[in-house]
Amino acid sequence: MSDKSIKMLLVVEDNPGDARLIREMFNEQNEHRTEFTHVECMSDAEKHLTVNQVDIILLDLGLPDVQGLDAVRRARKAAPRTPLVVLTSLDDESLATKALQDGAQDYLVKGQIDARSLLRSLRHAVERKAMEEELFVEQERAQVTLNSIGDAVACTDISGNISFLNFVAEKMTGWTLSEALGHPMPEILRIVDAITREAISNPMEIEMVQKTSLHLPPNSVLIRRDGFEIPIEDSVAAIHDREGKATGAVIVFRDVSVTRAMELQMAHLAQHDFLTGLPNRMLFSDRVRQAIAAAPRHLKKVAVLFLDLDGFKHINDSLGHAVGDRLLQSISKRLVNCVRGGDTVSRQGGDEFVVLLSEMERSEDAAISARRMLQAVAKAHSVEVHDLHVTASIGVSVYPDDGMDSETLIKNADTAMYQAKENGRQSYQFFKPAMNVRAVERQSIEESLRTALQRNEFSVHYQPKINLKSGRISGAEALLRWTHPTQGPISPARFIPVAEDCGLILPIGNWVLRQACKQARAWIDAKLPLATIAVNISAMEFRDDRFLDGVFKILDETLLDPRYLELELTESVLMKHAESTKSILNALRAKGIQLAVDDFGTGYSSLSYLRKFSIDAIKIDQSFIRQITTTPDETTIVTAMIGMGRSLKLRVVAEGVETQQELDFLKAHQCEEAQGYYFSRPVPPTQFAELLRAGLVEKSLVDTLR
Ligand code: C2E
Ligand code: MG
Ligand code: MG
Repeated sequence: MSDKSIKMLLVVEDNPGDARLIREMFNEQNEHRTEFTHVECMSDAEKHLTVNQVDIILLDLGLPDVQGLDAVRRARKAAPRTPLVVLTSLDDESLATKALQDGAQDYLVKGQIDARSLLRSLRHAVERKAMEEELFVEQERAQVTLNSIGDAVACTDISGNISFLNFVAEKMTGWTLSEALGHPMPEILRIVDAITREAISNPMEIEMVQKTSLHLPPNSVLIRRDGFEIPIEDSVAAIHDREGKATGAVIVFRDVSVTRAMELQMAHLAQHDFLTGLPNRMLFSDRVRQAIAAAPRHLKKVAVLFLDLDGFKHINDSLGHAVGDRLLQSISKRLVNCVRGGDTVSRQGGDEFVVLLSEMERSEDAAISARRMLQAVAKAHSVEVHDLHVTASIGVSVYPDDGMDSETLIKNADTAMYQAKENGRQSYQFFKPAMNVRAVERQSIEESLRTALQRNEFSVHYQPKINLKSGRISGAEALLRWTHPTQGPISPARFIPVAEDCGLILPIGNWVLRQACKQARAWIDAKLPLATIAVNISAMEFRDDRFLDGVFKILDETLLDPRYLELELTESVLMKHAESTKSILNALRAKGIQLAVDDFGTGYSSLSYLRKFSIDAIKIDQSFIRQITTTPDETTIVTAMIGMGRSLKLRVVAEGVETQQELDFLKAHQCEEAQGYYFSRPVPPTQFAELLRAGLVEKSLVDTLR
């Protein structure tokens, strides 16, 4: 601080003798560089200070216009940042001490001053003031920092009393700093465990003793002055002096209500389905485990019901996801109303719900619940302007009979649900061990199917269609054949549904179509009399975006005239998505491709679609043909189907004709075409070529036809 030498001194002294004395002392110390200004009263001093800056003020406390501490205050006010040394008389030392408290840096007692001590005192005063200024700036900076951070900061002194609170701490505790100052920390920071409600021991005290950084337990809650509770997180550190002795502690804590609320919400989300708010798969499994653990104690059974909606996808696709979502919400509410408080309804995703019935007396209770659920789901759901109707299929598994753990119970209920679906809509089915055998078989078929194309395990057989008037072959139906490497031939009825489920039908169907077109082209090139080649198309293929392009591409590749190709679609394919169906059918028709409705009578049997869509033929399902000879009633159905086809100018084909009797009936009722084992089984291409070459199926047959 050597540069803080005194260049400008202001002496405020009404006694000219004293003033002179001081000036002489300066001269004595050779401090000639100091510019010495002398005024005799406070008002002159104030005037001087408004225009001049001085390095120090030497102030007599007994002036004509102001005395004592008032003089100190006025001087401080006039020059707050200028060091101040006061002059007192011998009997006024207590006043001098007060002056120090009010901001003077030092005092000198008149009559006891010598030149050296005067100068030293003034220099020290200048230095002390400079240090105070620096400290003030430092403190200001710290204060501003502490008040602008988002965390709350509280400090204590060595005895654990509050010495500082920043704005955030004031807000969170409900105490202002001035109110809190000197109060024991636990009085201001009341921290309890959110769950046990026990007071948490003051981390600051522990900190100061143990010297390790401490944290509050995770569930800490700060109780504000007005009783409001705020979850907090903290860190505590001790403040040490230069010798390393703790002089207090600082605790930094923050309001974590938002983060904690978010954690709770995240935990909820992780366990619940966002759409319906129902427990999800994870939470459900947990509940099943709990129910299983409790069941033996209460000698009760536990049931798992797997519920899947029938035809939900159709609603979703045709009315949009928003409507689908609302429907799922409506269903979830109804399901919850079907069970008791202790039971759990969960959504597994999609249109699948799984229900846990705990503490059941008998398995029959599950059947009662299943029936109730089926009824509840089937009642109309009003969503927006729609009155929606859906049905469900339910599979039931029971602990301990059908499984000892949650996973097995859910899996078996799922398997039973599939069985229920196969049995027809709106039904429930209890799990039976035999179902698992089928499920396993399905799984193994799927695995083998994945490699079947590359391994050339497929072939296409052809079955003739016979024109019943001429007795000649009017066309061929291409039927896929699969020879499994170890299991031998597997029926399409077994593997086609699996291929449809897992999407493999797309590449497989494409392969069949290409094979059939190539074959047809080869026969036509060989001048064999083939009118049409029919290929079966699954719903999934038909709905695929690349379907049309795929068909056209194969026709181009194989150079087959589209007139020769006939596609067989089932009624259910035509029923869904009327608009897009219509445009696809029109595109096929425009190309010259013929269209037939396969398995006619087994699906919706709605006449309206036959009128709406441009179709060439209907194939009456073999189940109706079979009944021609067994159930007289059905004959009227077949008769009606033939009549209807004719009136709509459609070709009518009878499928699965096996007997002469059936044939006679069909001929009598003017059915145009027939197909069945009676004429020929599906045969490999070489054999079919021979049938074509002969121009008819069997000579004897032709005779009977004539
Ligand atoms: P579908 O299209 O109705 O084919 C007729 C089925 O009836 C064929 O069974 C055929 O062998 C059988 N059948 C023909 N005449 C008679 C008869 O007189 N009596 C009896 N009991 N059955 C007869 P297959 O070949 O087992 O095919 C079953 C189903 O698999 C087909 O029914 C068709 O829906 C599907 N399918 C076959 N090949 C393909 C294909 O390449 N693609 C697609 N998507 N489905 C195919
Ligand atoms: Mg067919
Ligand atoms: Mg058929």
